[in-house]
Amino acid sequence: MRFPFDNLFFREMEGFYAPAEPERPSAPKLLAFNHALAADLGLILEKGGEAELAALFSGAILPEGAEPLAFAYAGHQFGHFSPQLGDGRALLLGEIVTPAGQRFDVQLKGSGRTAFSRNGDGKAAIGPVLREYLISESMAKMGIATTRALAAVATGDRVQRERAHPGAVLTRIAASHIRIGTFQYFAAHHGEAPVSQLVRHAIARHYPEIAAEKNPALALLDRVIDRQAKLVADWMGVGFVHGVMNTDNMSISGETIDYGPCAFMDRFRMNSVFSSIDRNGRYAYGKQPHILHWNMARLAEALLPSIHAVDEKDVEKAKQLIAEVPARFQEQWEKNLRAKLGLGVAQEGDGALFDAMFAMMEAENADFTGFFRGLAVHLREGDHAFQRSGAPMDEAAWGEWRVQWLARLDAEYGEGQRLARAEAMDQVNPLYIPRNHLVESALEKAEASDMGRWERLLSIVCDPYVQREGLEEFALPDGLDAPAYRTFCGT
Ligand code: AMP
Ligand code: MG
Repeated sequence: MRFPFDNLFFREMEGFYAPAEPERPSAPKLLAFNHALAADLGLILEKGGEAELAALFSGAILPEGAEPLAFAYAGHQFGHFSPQLGDGRALLLGEIVTPAGQRFDVQLKGSGRTAFSRNGDGKAAIGPVLREYLISESMAKMGIATTRALAAVATGDRVQRERAHPGAVLTRIAASHIRIGTFQYFAAHHGEAPVSQLVRHAIARHYPEIAAEKNPALALLDRVIDRQAKLVADWMGVGFVHGVMNTDNMSISGETIDYGPCAFMDRFRMNSVFSSIDRNGRYAYGKQPHILHWNMARLAEALLPSIHAVDEKDVEKAKQLIAEVPARFQEQWEKNLRAKLGLGVAQEGDGALFDAMFAMMEAENADFTGFFRGLAVHLREGDHAFQRSGAPMDEAAWGEWRVQWLARLDAEYGEGQRLARAEAMDQVNPLYIPRNHLVESALEKAEASDMGRWERLLSIVCDPYVQREGLEEFALPDGLDAPAYRTFCGT
């Protein structure tokens, strides 16, 4: 395989990384390869077939032009600053430039120890690798900014966690791996000059439209706030809980990164938490906007010396930007909610309609995905169909809210437009998402060397909006009496 490498970070950002080498896997075997993504990226497959892919995407051989490195970064983990994190179980093979001129990082995750591994083994187990592959591809197909999965390869080695698991390597494609924590690392250890250098690099890479701004660090903060606000609103629109919104897991490009303990809600709970290590619910579903705000303040702190160096009066502007974060999030969030409900332009009273909806959903144990999808069923076929759609609810509670919603919808579009609104809603409300119980059973089979169920689930969630015959079980939540779902960190 030929990679169109052009390793700018390696060339221009010496001191921001440590060179790294993958550990050689004992018996690499291809588990999954994303051919469509490879084609988009301009990766050219040669004759080696699966054996070549398995070798390349496990670190057994290095592709020509690779200059592998591990990024340095710091980060606030659950509110506490860790000055020294960095890629402990990942390495960048290099950057590629696609035929369309876009630049991407190609990173191996789980390929062994680096200079930043501390006590870790640098490895990944097959379950978390296939979980990230599935969920990140599903997110991409729902139009949510995310890193992508190019390949998953079993290494043939065992990885010791609470017990021994088969090891695997994930190849992750990202717009970049520059995190809030990357800025924090250089701010904490080396001061203003490298932070300003990183600001220029990040702008050239992600926000070329602000390259001529008088105060680049301030302009970068402004852009990152917008992207991150949209990202969190998009997550919440599909019932997604990231689970570990530490500043080292928040990308400057605004992509979802680090699929560790994330999960999607079935039954709606504003305070849903899945991660076994998030004991205080810091990263609960409904807390995510607050954490977004907190994280942006940490980014601003790291950028402050650079902002100040250009013009000390701009420090006030940075404070103003941080104060605007909740409003910017709210704007994105309400836009998403209106689209989910088939509504167009914001109107007085929408906030009360949304609040009443969430209160009703919570009281009725509504299945998040099924509820929103069911609204279009209701518009097309009436209430009996809604009640059979997998989102049944108490008639009194649902009936009261429904009257308000329909009145609001008809006031904007007219009753004759209900079918058209249902069509529009089906384009934004997914039917097939990686539901926890489906993911778990697919991973269990995969760990026992049967990839069939995982492959089937992947193909279903990669076409999330169009209803298909015979896939009813994939659209339903787990039973109400199912045990609470718990996730664990550690790809
Ligand atoms: P994460 O939970 O993915 O956000 O990782 C937090 C930090 O721990 C990062 O610096 C990782 O590189 C590091 N880390 C996590 N797991 C391992 C591992 N198995 N070996 C080495 N470093 C790790
Ligand atoms: Mg991380």
